[in-house]
Amino acid sequence: MEWIATLVQGLYIVAGVLFILSLAGLSKQDTARMGNLAGMVGMALALFATIVYSLYWSYAEPEHRLPVWLTGLLIVGALAIGVLVGTPIARKVEMTQMPELIAAFHSFVGMAAVLVGINSFLEPEGVGGAVHTVEVALGVLIGAYTFTGSVVAFLKLSARMKSAPLVLPGRNWLNLGAFVVFVGLMVWLIVLGEDSGTLGLVLVIAMALIGFALGWHMVAAIGGGDMPVVVSMLNSYSGWAAAAAGFMLGNGLLIITGSLVGSSGAILSYIMCRAMNRSFISVILGGFGSDDGAAPAASGTPVGEHREIDVSGAVDVLMGAKRVIITPGYGMAVAKAQYPVASLTQQLRARGVDVRFGVHPVAGRLPGHMNVLLAEAKVPYDIVLEMDEINDDFADTDVVLVIGANDTVNPAAEEDPGSPIAGMPVLEVWHARQVIVFKRSMATGYAGVQNPLFFRENTAMLFGDAKTQVEAIVSALPAMQEA
Ligand code: NDP
Repeated sequence: MEWIATLVQGLYIVAGVLFILSLAGLSKQDTARMGNLAGMVGMALALFATIVYSLYWSYAEPEHRLPVWLTGLLIVGALAIGVLVGTPIARKVEMTQMPELIAAFHSFVGMAAVLVGINSFLEPEGVGGAVHTVEVALGVLIGAYTFTGSVVAFLKLSARMKSAPLVLPGRNWLNLGAFVVFVGLMVWLIVLGEDSGTLGLVLVIAMALIGFALGWHMVAAIGGGDMPVVVSMLNSYSGWAAAAAGFMLGNGLLIITGSLVGSSGAILSYIMCRAMNRSFISVILGGFGSDDGAAPAASGTPVGEHREIDVSGAVDVLMGAKRVIITPGYGMAVAKAQYPVASLTQQLRARGVDVRFGVHPVAGRLPGHMNVLLAEAKVPYDIVLEMDEINDDFADTDVVLVIGANDTVNPAAEEDPGSPIAGMPVLEVWHARQVIVFKRSMATGYAGVQNPLFFRENTAMLFGDAKTQVEAIVSALPAMQEA
């Protein structure tokens, strides 16, 4: 029966390779489907191998394990719960709720690492000693941090908790103090050695409590506009938590997968920090964006007079345009306006207008949000450009249509050093001859900051639901041509 263990290891290696191929595929839009497929096949193999492995050990070592039938029953039960809970959630989740769903899922990974850590402390497998104690301690700390951090991120993203940063006095010292206590407890546990008994368990639980408190406090200290980086950081932490669990269980595949998730999440966080001009280190420490402990001033005060335009006015402007750039944002996702936006693009291009899209790296509520929506509405990839690729072209553009974007087109980020979003690179739409902003009111965007763009001379506001208004423009266009 030795061959079963070898087969399982072989399947784990194949699954690991498929996960790497999956990441490689996901890095480009035209190979993303293949990437997803490789990931799904890899996960199915991994699941199959793990089930076979668990049943095999129950059978091979009956004196140390649960009986085979009970192991099987538990696996079927766990799978059934996963399928029954996961399927309806995955079916009905809106794209706009994706970040909060991801945050919720990360919390499960964190909790799993805590439970694996405690279990591995009580029933150590393989080599014990100091190395194992460090694995348990780190696994429990990172897992607990990921759990509460993700819960707070979920609550903030789903607006069940205020998105303003929680600012406790001396919060960096509190965090540092908690970490020092954690290291102290870990050293104590190492000194106690193999037979640490009940005291050892108490120490492990105390470490978990420190992780829970740190995760809650550090993510609660981060304000609204910085949430995308937090989601990606927690993604990274959940990977490290899984890798730590892999070390404790001696499971190579979990180590590979955890490291892939951990490092890709860290790289994504780094890229996002650069895109938002934030310091990577201060993100890791939590509470960035409000450096001296002051909460960012959420300002909703108007800064002048705004000009309004109606559908026929917008049609007039578009009929006279040769070059148009569309900058979509969160509002386009909420309104599901990507379909009429795609038909507007098609109509304008058919009339010989050069239409392109400018996508900000953190437009919407998750990285790539706009790209997914535009691809779904079949907007050709080659006219969808990143912020860096298009930012110099606004000056040569006749009309910019800002569809439900706000923070990502806010000139205050460049012009007002006191603004909470100061330093964040933005789409410089105001350089175009004419800007039309589609939104329902003068309300602020996610970061809660007023947008001086709305009060510029070359900006006109087209109020109303983005989908309704774009549809109205699309149906008015041919009529205008005939007239
Ligand atoms: P914003 O969140 O700044 O603004 C969206 C605008 O859309 C609002 O001002 C709102 O105005 C408008 N809107 C809402 N519903 C509709 C509708 N039905 N029709 C028309 N307009 C509508 O969007 P951006 O995409 O510009 O910026 C994203 C923000 O989200 C950034 O601050 C970013 O940091 C943050 N964020 C990004 C994440 C990511 O990874 N991409 C993750 C989490 C946060 P009104 O109410 O007046 O209609």
